Amino acid sequence: MKPRESVLTVDGRTVLVQRKSIKNMYLRVDQQTGWLKVSAPRFTSDLAIVGFVRGREAWIEKALANEKQKASQPVRTFSAADRRAFRAKCAASLERWQPLVGRRASGFSVRDMKTRWGSCNTRTGHLNFNLKLLDLPQECLDYVVVHELCHLWVNGHSKAFWTHVERVYPDWRRVRKELRKRQ
Ligand SMILES: [Zn+2]
Repeated sequence: MKPRESVLTVDGRTVLVQRKSIKNMYLRVDQQTGWLKVSAPRFTSDLAIVGFVRGREAWIEKALANEKQKASQPVRTFSAADRRAFRAKCAASLERWQPLVGRRASGFSVRDMKTRWGSCNTRTGHLNFNLKLLDLPQECLDYVVVHELCHLWVNGHSKAFWTHVERVYPDWRRVRKELRKRQ
């Protein structure tokens, strides 16, 4: 069955409601519109949904403030010179780490990626690095380079994978935490 969509206004706020085959109600902020979005079980009444939203006022205030702050941040764009500089940094980092990891990339691209710092095509051995790393400390790029190279040993994030990372880059946990904060 398709979800049934409707719109409610709760205390002056637009709430998009989606009724579908689920057991619990969920509330989130829609990234695109900035509206509140409730998913609810099929036969939930409007009244129950209004009560649900009202009970989460503190969470809503915080979530909407977060969205606003994100939207007001200037978007970083990368010039051709930025790309060249970043390519050179990646190449140098790869030269440094490849012998230690014991695998070589077949090539690499630099891209402005939204959700990932890097990626690895384990079939072709081609790596991608996120241009946003250009603005971060060198250790962040080094960790991502090591991480992606280690995928040429092990696909996925199993214990065996992290053993490879650990051997070459023992401080990986700290740098990974740094990167997560900036995502
Ligand atoms: Zn990975």
